[in-house]
Amino acid sequence: MDEQIVKQYEALEKQILGYNPGIDVQRLRDAFTFAYGSHDGQKRKSGEPYIIHPIAVAQIVAELELDPDSIIAALLHDVIEDTPATYEDVAKRFGESVAILVEGVTKLTRMQYVTKEEEQMENLRKMLMAMSRDIRVILIKICDRLHNMRTMEYQSPQKQREKSRETMEIYAPIAHRLGMQRIKWELEDTSLRYLDPIGYQEINQELKKRSAAHEAFMESVQEKITARMAEEKVECKVYGRVKHVYSIYRKMYTQNKTLDEIFDLYAFRVIVSDVPTCYNVLGCIHDMFNPVLGRFKDYISTPKPNGYQSLHTTVIGREGIPFEVQIRTQEMHNTAEYGIAAHWKYKQGMGNQKLGTEETFEWVRKLLESQQDTDPDEFISTL
Ligand code: MN
Repeated sequence: MDEQIVKQYEALEKQILGYNPGIDVQRLRDAFTFAYGSHDGQKRKSGEPYIIHPIAVAQIVAELELDPDSIIAALLHDVIEDTPATYEDVAKRFGESVAILVEGVTKLTRMQYVTKEEEQMENLRKMLMAMSRDIRVILIKICDRLHNMRTMEYQSPQKQREKSRETMEIYAPIAHRLGMQRIKWELEDTSLRYLDPIGYQEINQELKKRSAAHEAFMESVQEKITARMAEEKVECKVYGRVKHVYSIYRKMYTQNKTLDEIFDLYAFRVIVSDVPTCYNVLGCIHDMFNPVLGRFKDYISTPKPNGYQSLHTTVIGREGIPFEVQIRTQEMHNTAEYGIAAHWKYKQGMGNQKLGTEETFEWVRKLLESQQDTDPDEFISTL
């Protein structure tokens, strides 16, 4: 076995043990060995051994802290599609539930991509419902796509555009619907890189040019907030970041603005322990900086359809630079970052609620339905 690959696998194992010390390590190793053997001799477009890809996908699945079957299915997600291994082989070795997951991912991989915009979301919704009685299938598929997008540079220009378009139109919206903001952003940014390379590079370079100034600004705001919170004896974590490329891109093009004219390039997060503290912190922020009229949103009392909760406000500091502040509890934060995956983790912790049961499926179905009328295709309308 290739030493590099064994190392990558061991990193995965360590990562999982970090959140699930009770995992059956032998079963995990068997899955790795089986995947390794099945993909033996296959290479990725980069020239690397193929097995690197399923391990990387399993690592992303592990970041979502999903259950052992999901990790094993991620390791095996391409064996039915790309190797002689069959559903029965997988079921015999790793159980029916893993085989069902792998088969589900395989079906999504074979999914016919349609380009007629209006039909797309509807088709997609139907397919997702029909094919994935189990939402973990979609989560693994999203992780698969994310790793493919991360390594898209080795593909032909045509394939790059095709996959990027599909990602922007299907996978990013699903990630959004499932509330997985972090993955959604990365999918959008990596797609934009190929869909509008010039636009993407321009923003990236402009951001790079200003990064020293940005960092100084963010640090000063962060320090001010942290100092005030200490004064108020509020325990919290404060983070600052520049918004992601695609969200800047969209603003520049829809509002016809230059980077300098974009209203809120910066977003800060204050994470606190409970809901009343969120409102206290909001009061402090409005006391420290000038709030911009009409920019306050209370997604705590009225959550977004995908479950997102937070207080949002835009304020202007002494430097005259506007920035957004998002205030939320740790639990709301986990939901914001990992969406449905966080919801599951919570459920798992609450009792022995089984993942992928009809009840969870029902929850997802409602989630998808409640949003079917919203943002049909932002990207297309942007262009
Ligand atoms: Mn794959």
